Amino acid sequence: MLPQTLTAGPRTRILIAAEQIQQRVRELASQIDADYTQDPLYVVSVLKGAFIFVADLCRALKRPNVRIEFMAISSYGSEKTTSGQVKLTRDLDVNIEGQNVLIVEDIVDSGITLNYLTRLLRQRHPRSLEIVTLLDKPERRIQPVSVKYIGFQIPDEFVVGYGLDYAEDYRNLSDICVLSEAGIR
Ligand code: 5GP
Repeated sequence: MLPQTLTAGPRTRILIAAEQIQQRVRELASQIDADYTQDPLYVVSVLKGAFIFVADLCRALKRPNVRIEFMAISSYGSEKTTSGQVKLTRDLDVNIEGQNVLIVEDIVDSGITLNYLTRLLRQRHPRSLEIVTLLDKPERRIQPVSVKYIGFQIPDEFVVGYGLDYAEDYRNLSDICVLSEAGIR
């Protein structure tokens, strides 16, 4: 029997249910599979928020040569608004020169994080560099980013679950939820 997964509680309202997420992840993976040749694909995931998405996405890809790498960037502390400051806290430990690189992000909000990250990785001369994000809040964009694969466009609401946190809580929810005022400390 499958373990019971944690879902929305009194402080959260479901925006995108777990089944919908899983369906969309499969669609994104088949699009990605179709777009890339059989060369290795370097999947660069941004910690921590994208960790569940990258795990599900990679398992839905039908190729054995998916190389999974992690970077960490901080732009949010326990606050709900971006500081506008991006700090690289964990770099890649592989050379991506001449490789196909796919950045996997949880959510694009102001665009500051991905604008910074793509400029940084482009300097390393990958063969190709694209972005897949599970969520996109287009209304919030301050800096331009070109995102090839988008799971869901969502309104300007603060979401948690499926890897996304509020002050490190809620990452383990199976659904993507909006946090009510009661959930915000
Ligand atoms: P950006 O640099 O595009 O403003 O923000 C990207 C990062 O901000 C995301 O990777 C994520 O960590 C955080 N973020 C933006 N919007 C939300 C949100 O609605 N919920 C959560 N939990 N994090 C968010």
